[in-house]
Amino acid sequence: MIGPRTILFFLMTLFLGWLAGVLLNYLADVLPQTRSFSAAGCHSCGSKRSFLDLLLMRRCRSCQAGRTHRAWIVQIAAMLAVPVIGFLPPPALGFWIALVVFLYFGVVFIIDVEHRAILHEVSLVGVLLAIPFGLWLNGWSKTLLGFAVGFGVMLGLYYFGILFNRWMSKARGQEIDEVALGFGDVNLSGILGIALGWPRIIVCLFSAIVLGGLLSGLYILVMVLRKKYQAFTAIPYAPFLIIAAAVLLYMA
Ligand SMILES: [Zn+2]
Repeated sequence: MIGPRTILFFLMTLFLGWLAGVLLNYLADVLPQTRSFSAAGCHSCGSKRSFLDLLLMRRCRSCQAGRTHRAWIVQIAAMLAVPVIGFLPPPALGFWIALVVFLYFGVVFIIDVEHRAILHEVSLVGVLLAIPFGLWLNGWSKTLLGFAVGFGVMLGLYYFGILFNRWMSKARGQEIDEVALGFGDVNLSGILGIALGWPRIIVCLFSAIVLGGLLSGLYILVMVLRKKYQAFTAIPYAPFLIIAAAVLLYMA
């Protein structure tokens, strides 16, 4: 039997999902531009949006532009994800902590997909959130080791990527500007190391690299078949790290 309490809880998670979507859209819009909690502007004409405009996903008052596709996708995704987290929270975390983790991962995910970047400010907040989280979940020794491995392994891959680029630039006789792995990925991996702890961070890194490799391989194959392939298209790694970390937190 589905009682009134269940229905009420479901409605509350839907409402929270909508709010989470509004917050994620706001942060993903303003942080890459101003690095602060500035007023949100219209993507088309730049005129300011009020809090109610954001909350109700209203059209721009000046130019009548509707919200972007991304804004609606995020809104829908959050309204699907938050009820799922509400009814099936990761056992070790519970609903509210899982919600904070979802919001953090969401911001990093969207900004990395749109800008191929993980902002340093966002990483700093990640460290501040991950330290108490990791200590609570795993204790200090696993947290410390998790950080060392998460940060260290990605730092190694980062320098390997730079060397590889230099070598390819020489071999091809032209500069390659795109980096396979940005320093933001190194920071994120360090944060996930703190949050997941040792040895989960190794599983996370391995899964993300395999998942990212497989999907980018598939992408390259499709592009080659459509004759649109350009070598060295950077893939955003953060989404893969985040998906792997979310699965691992569910199993924690
Ligand atoms: Zn406008």
